[in-house]
Amino acid sequence: MTYHELKEQENQYVMNTYGRFDIALDHGNGAQLWDVEGKRYIDLTSGIGVCCLGYNNEKIIDAITTQAHKLMHVSNLFTTEPMVQAAKTLCTQTGMSKVFFSNSGAESNEGMIKLARKYSYDKYGEGRAEIVTLYNSFHGRTITTLKATGQDKFHQYFFPFTEGFAYANANDIDSVKAAVNGHTCAIMMELIQGEGGVLPLDPDFVHQVEALCRENDLLLLIDEVQTGIGRTGSLFCFQQYGIKPDVVSMAKGLGGGVPIGAVMAADTCDTVLGPGTHATTFGGTPMICAAANAVLSEVTQPEFLKSVTEKGEYLKAKILGFGSDKVKDVRGMGLMLGIVVDADARAALVKEIMDAGVLVLTAGTNAIRLLPPLSISYEEMDEALAVMQKVFCK
Ligand SMILES: *Cc1c(COP(=O)(O)O)cnc(C)c1O
Repeated sequence: MTYHELKEQENQYVMNTYGRFDIALDHGNGAQLWDVEGKRYIDLTSGIGVCCLGYNNEKIIDAITTQAHKLMHVSNLFTTEPMVQAAKTLCTQTGMSKVFFSNSGAESNEGMIKLARKYSYDKYGEGRAEIVTLYNSFHGRTITTLKATGQDKFHQYFFPFTEGFAYANANDIDSVKAAVNGHTCAIMMELIQGEGGVLPLDPDFVHQVEALCRENDLLLLIDEVQTGIGRTGSLFCFQQYGIKPDVVSMAKGLGGGVPIGAVMAADTCDTVLGPGTHATTFGGTPMICAAANAVLSEVTQPEFLKSVTEKGEYLKAKILGFGSDKVKDVRGMGLMLGIVVDADARAALVKEIMDAGVLVLTAGTNAIRLLPPLSISYEEMDEALAVMQKVFCK
């Protein structure tokens, strides 16, 4: 089908919940994608941080195919090796204690919220269930995670939302302290606000939040759905901040393109969710965990993580080096970058970059967000940079 035929049928049969780009993609390789009309793109989006090892990755495809021939799914009433292996790798690589597998970022955050509330309930009883999150955060699209998201625009239409969230300003410990009270059980945050604009939290602030949690027996919940799985140059971003979270959620990059999420708990709270308290049909299913194991075997390599940091620094330096007054700043860590531009110039810049064959994302009000496959080559980066330079320096 041509783009126009596809679009017509999409409009007829698919709910119009996304503002999609005018591109229908067909196949990919490495950090390159081809649309249905054969046009080639350099991809700096990796399906919003999901396809961390690029497209057509042999290792992931082999892992999925081999496992599909053995078992795709058996339910959580049985043990399977790929699930155990994935959990073991996540724990041994991070010093965390136990993992629960889910299917998406929002579902992982739901699990993390349930865990925090039950931890507090078990210890203190009812009435201590409030979770403090940060303004400008993003935690998902379920009724609960929308409410956890600290942006008013997400708190519309779907009333009543889940109760028990309070909000504080990022990088302002007094604001967090003011939001914490005798009803609080946890503080939940992203270390780099992704959808909010690629805004890394200040390390001092993060350490102050950790101390506040320890003083008040609050669980420190870190949403690494976007920052995790090597994206920032360490397996998880919290490892670079030097903190010890109680619970970490992840999803996006974990399966390299297949749907998977996970909640990972430290030994402070790893037995809170016992039999019958939490479950999901597809969580930890062997075919998907086989993909995660293929991803993890690559992204846990120190040289791989070092290459992510180096590529991120390379992109940042080159983009700042354009010398364009349209580039106000480049922020972020590793291969999670935001090019800061004037809010009202952004849409036109993005359109020009995309038309010229480079796929990019936006975040917040004024950032052009780059989440390339972590495996992107220097040739692919140079091609994308040449296109962006042309657009920014016109
Ligand atoms: C994408 C994202 C989510 C939601 O993940 P889904 O898989 O879309 O449910 C939650 N938190 C953060 C930080 C994210 O970037």
